[in-house]
Amino acid sequence: MMSFFQGSNLFSGKLNKLRTMALGVVFVGIIIMYLGYAGYAGFLGGLFQGSGIFMSIMMVIGLLLTVSSFLLYFWVGMLSTRAVQVECPTCRKPTKMLGTTDDCMFCGQRLSFDPKYASHSQDSQPQS
Ligand SMILES: [Zn+2]
Repeated sequence: MMSFFQGSNLFSGKLNKLRTMALGVVFVGIIIMYLGYAGYAGFLGGLFQGSGIFMSIMMVIGLLLTVSSFLLYFWVGMLSTRAVQVECPTCRKPTKMLGTTDDCMFCGQRLSFDPKYASHSQDSQPQS
């Protein structure tokens, strides 16, 4: 299921976080669906055993989470095509930036197009 991102391994810091979140949501959705089945099968005790309503609700919630995380994956994929590729000034690796400010995906260096952060590495500014 990761196949649509092969060949585009350059994710920015924000995109990496979104991708990790989407992956987490997939697991949560699968666990919820499994719990629905486990409850129906009686693994969670007699309370949910044979309860089709419980299983249906859990299945629907799990399915919605899984589908929404797939949508998130597609959204991240579209965002990554709009991200700007830059060379990180700290680690000299090509990284991608989303928006005017983002973190380097290799070293976590904060990168920005905003001029007010331009002299970030020169800490010898007397005021402000
Ligand atoms: Zn870097």
